[in-house]
Amino acid sequence: MNPKIYVDSQHEIDHSLIDPDALFVITKLREAGYSAYLVGGSVRDVIAKVKPKDFDISTSALPEQVKQVFKRNCLLIGRRFRLAHIRFGKKVIEVSTFRAGENEGELILQDNEWGTPEEDAKRRDFTINGLFYDPTNHSVIDYVGGWEDIHKKTLRTIGNPVMRFKQDPVRMIRLLKFCARFGFKTDDETMQAMLKCREEIIKSAPARILEEFLRMLESGSAAPFIQLMHQHGFLETLFPALAHFLDGPHADKLYTYLKCADRIHNQYGIAFINRSILTACLLFPIYEQELQTQYLDKNLMPHFGEIVLLAHSLLKGFETSSFTHLTRRLSSTAAFIMATQYRLTPLTGKISYRNKLLHNKEFVLALKFLDIRTLINPKLAETCNNWKKAYRAQEHHGDRTPHPHSNAPYRRHHHHPGGRRERRHAGE
Ligand code: ATP
Ligand code: MG
Repeated sequence: MNPKIYVDSQHEIDHSLIDPDALFVITKLREAGYSAYLVGGSVRDVIAKVKPKDFDISTSALPEQVKQVFKRNCLLIGRRFRLAHIRFGKKVIEVSTFRAGENEGELILQDNEWGTPEEDAKRRDFTINGLFYDPTNHSVIDYVGGWEDIHKKTLRTIGNPVMRFKQDPVRMIRLLKFCARFGFKTDDETMQAMLKCREEIIKSAPARILEEFLRMLESGSAAPFIQLMHQHGFLETLFPALAHFLDGPHADKLYTYLKCADRIHNQYGIAFINRSILTACLLFPIYEQELQTQYLDKNLMPHFGEIVLLAHSLLKGFETSSFTHLTRRLSSTAAFIMATQYRLTPLTGKISYRNKLLHNKEFVLALKFLDIRTLINPKLAETCNNWKKAYRAQEHHGDRTPHPHSNAPYRRHHHHPGGRRERRHAGE
């Protein structure tokens, strides 16, 4: 099949949205005699005039050949998918060889069959993600009808939706992710297929689901995403504790935290709050409610040990009932962040600006979470400021080496537990 080609005069792709390093990779591959295109999410984004988060490249060069072109800056990764990562400092550009799609069989087991550009386009999930862009002659190459669907703001699978969802049920989560993020509508047939196939989600690898889920929480559209996940029954299957809370009278509290995280992400980028803070955003409203019913409603005042214990047991319960496991590091840090809130703003109201707490290397995460609580409840502003002052004073007099960004409100935490990709740190 011949693709539809959209040339320069037919689109308004702004090249300044495209990472110069991605352009460099494409040029080098072409100079070495291979074909190479920008593919997937980044093409969708530049057509929709959105700045892409990451840039993927597809090429006719085999992974070893890519390695020969970029030498030491290229790392070959992955067993199931052999991919080349080209490094530019902290940033990574992902280069994959054109691949053929899955066989007729249902769940994908292995797919390392090299293919043509057309096959590579057709193995992708949604039409809007199946376009190629050739930056050397500014043409968009469309084998799947993605161009029209982007302009019609429509989400549609490439190929038969029931089959595509059965082959890889994570695509249903991805569908909701794109609904939440772009506000696109879903084509009828695709929607019917999702409703029919949603039980299949438990056949997916838990780690992949968790990765899509966490990436969504940090996308700036976490609130609508969770709402769609709940509405379509996925939360019930994957995270029953969250579904249960959202069915109760305090659902709004959870959405308030998520909207706040979204606001911060949209304003400051991904570097400001990490995944353990996001996990705390999801679970803190449930935690507060548990403290309320287990202690305060009974006129009991829990001591701090009990508060810490409750945080850990809440996370443990959340995990055992969930389909997927958080990493141990992620859940213990989230528990720390949540419990520490009751030291920062104790139930008794008596605050002691303890030194020991300030020295904890994860204190800054708890402080950032207090910042989020302050955005939700401005009455906390004075306390929050006092803690920041105490923290800064401790940083100056502490035994640690001074931080290079000493005028920043507090040290930036680069730790993204479970983070898969290199992230650009916005706002630095
Ligand atoms: P984002 O902006 O969130 O990165 P994306 O569409 O770029 O969205 P990625 O996970 O970066 O998502 O994937 C890159 C591309 O790989 C997609 O655009 C799509 O073409 C293809 N892809 C990703 N996941 C799947 C999948 N489960 N099935 C088929 N194709 C997929
Ligand atoms: Mg992407």
